[in-house]
Amino acid sequence: MSSVKLEQISRKFSDAAAGQQQRFVGIDDISFEIPDGEFWVLVGPSGCGKSTLLRVIAGLETATSGNIYIGDRLVDRIPARQRDVAMVFQNYALYPHMTVAENLGFGMQMRGVDRDLIQQRVKDVAKSLQIDSLLDRKPKQLSGGQQQRVALGRAIARSPQVFLLDEPLSNLDPGLRDNTRTELRQLHQQVGITTIYVTHDYVEAMTLADRIVVLDRGYIQQIGTPSEIYDRPTNQMVATFIGNPPMNIIPAIYHNRIWNIGESKISCPSELATKLQLRDGQGLNLGIRPEHLTIVPNSQPDTLLVTVRSLEPLGRETLLKAQVDGTSISLALLTTPADSSTQLANSPVPSIGTQLAVRLDPQSMFIFDPSTGSRLAPDRSFVRD
Ligand code: ATP
Repeated sequence: MSSVKLEQISRKFSDAAAGQQQRFVGIDDISFEIPDGEFWVLVGPSGCGKSTLLRVIAGLETATSGNIYIGDRLVDRIPARQRDVAMVFQNYALYPHMTVAENLGFGMQMRGVDRDLIQQRVKDVAKSLQIDSLLDRKPKQLSGGQQQRVALGRAIARSPQVFLLDEPLSNLDPGLRDNTRTELRQLHQQVGITTIYVTHDYVEAMTLADRIVVLDRGYIQQIGTPSEIYDRPTNQMVATFIGNPPMNIIPAIYHNRIWNIGESKISCPSELATKLQLRDGQGLNLGIRPEHLTIVPNSQPDTLLVTVRSLEPLGRETLLKAQVDGTSISLALLTTPADSSTQLANSPVPSIGTQLAVRLDPQSMFIFDPSTGSRLAPDRSFVRD
C-alpha cells in the first residue's frame, strides 16, 4: 500500500495531421495527494480526461510535464510493469484457455512466487470475492459478473501498492452492478489498498469514494468528500454533474432586492444583495436541487410560477418537469408516504399543462456567476449542517 502524489501533471496530445505539437489538452495542471489506503474516484463527463489521468499514473501514457510519486518513489521514468500498480479495465481480458484459479495465480507465477504460496493466495482471494466454487471453470463458463470478479481478483492477488480501476462495472447489468459495487467497497475495507476508480456515474462516485475528484475538460473542478461535493459544489459544472435529477439552474435578473424570473418575483435578502454588491439589471443563475422545491398555494408571495410539462412516476416519488420563463426545472414529489400513519404525501400529482406556484427554500439555494459558473453564494466559508 502507498500514497499517490501528483504534482502539476499535464498530458497534451499533438495533432500530427495539422503539423501542430501538443494541441489537445488531455489533462492539465493536475495536483493532489491520495493518502495511503484511501479510495478516490475520478468522475466527470465524457472526454474530461479521467482515463488519460489513470493511464498516466499507471505508466501506460507519458505525462507531458509534472511528477508522480507512488509512496516516496518518483515513478515518472519507471515503466508500467515496475510501478507495482494493478489496473482493471471495463473490458476485462481473462485468459480464455486458463481456469479461474490459473487466471488468478498467473501474475504471481510470472514473478516466480512459490507454488504453495500462489495456491494459498488464490484460495484467499477467491474466498473474499465469493468465487471459490468457480476455481476450476474456464472464463466462458462464467457470467459477466463472475468474470469481472475474476479480473478484480487477479489484480488483488498481486497485492499491488495501488489499484487503478477504469469503469470496471460498466458492462454489468444494473442489479449486478449495484451488488458488485457494494462488494467492491467491502473488499476495499478488508484489503485497504489505495484505489483510484474512474467512472462517469455519479452514484458510483458518491457510494464508493472517500474523496471524489471532479474533472471537466482536463482540469480539476473540485476535490472533496461525497457530501462536500453534493452540499458545497464549487461551481455550476459540479452542481449540475453530481445529482440525479441535476440541480436546477434558473437564470434571474436582479432589480431592487428582487430576483425576476419571467413573471415570477422572488425576494433577495438585503444582506445578500449588499454582500454580493448586486447591481440593478445584473443577471445571476439561481441553483436549487429538486428536493428543495415545494408546491404551495398559488396565492403565496415569493414563488416561482411554473407550467407542468411532464410527469415521471418512479414509485415512491414522481419526478415533475416544469417550465419557467423558458427554463426547464425538475421537482421531486413524494407520492407514496413511507409510513402512512406518520407522513403525508406532500400533494396530489398535478396534471400536465397546470400552472403551479413553487417555493424555493432560500437556505438551500446557490447563486452562480453566469459568465464563469463559479459559486457566488453561499460563500467559501459556509458549512451546511
Ligand atoms: P470517456 O468517459 O469518454 O472515456 P475520458 O474522461 O476518459 O472520457 P479521455 O479518454 O481521458 O477522457 O480523453 C481526454 C481528452 O483527451 C479527450 O478530449 C480526448 O479526445 C483526448 N485524447 C485522448 N487520447 C488522445 C490521443 N491519443 N490523441 C489526441 N487526443 C486524445
